[in-house]
Amino acid sequence: MSDLKLCQGPECHTYSTQDRLKGTKPNKTYQTRRRSSFYYGGGNFCDMRCQSDWINKNIEHALNHFGRTTEAKHLTEDNAWTKDYDWRHSMGESHRYYFLNTITKEQRPLTEEQYNDTSYTINTGE
Ligand SMILES: [Zn+2]
Repeated sequence: MSDLKLCQGPECHTYSTQDRLKGTKPNKTYQTRRRSSFYYGGGNFCDMRCQSDWINKNIEHALNHFGRTTEAKHLTEDNAWTKDYDWRHSMGESHRYYFLNTITKEQRPLTEEQYNDTSYTINTGE
């Protein structure tokens, strides 16, 4: 039991689902969910509601702590390249892969390997 993780949702124990009800009469309580793994919020929350509860409770503090965006960021032509492809229907013909610049609309050809390589980019920065 010790390697189970507790849901970090501050209200998790207040949601009266059957799986949260633990203990024996007359000492039953609704308890924070614990599982070997969770799927939400980087593995910290049992569901979207618990994740939202945490965000709603802590978002102001977290933004003040980690720093707020105070100016609009700019995506320039140099960094506006995304990967895309044209679907080819006929047999034996592979898709046409390309970089698309979302600002200039310029296209540059890509190989399938380059398309699938998530680290391959021609963007020069953020
Ligand atoms: Zn929860």
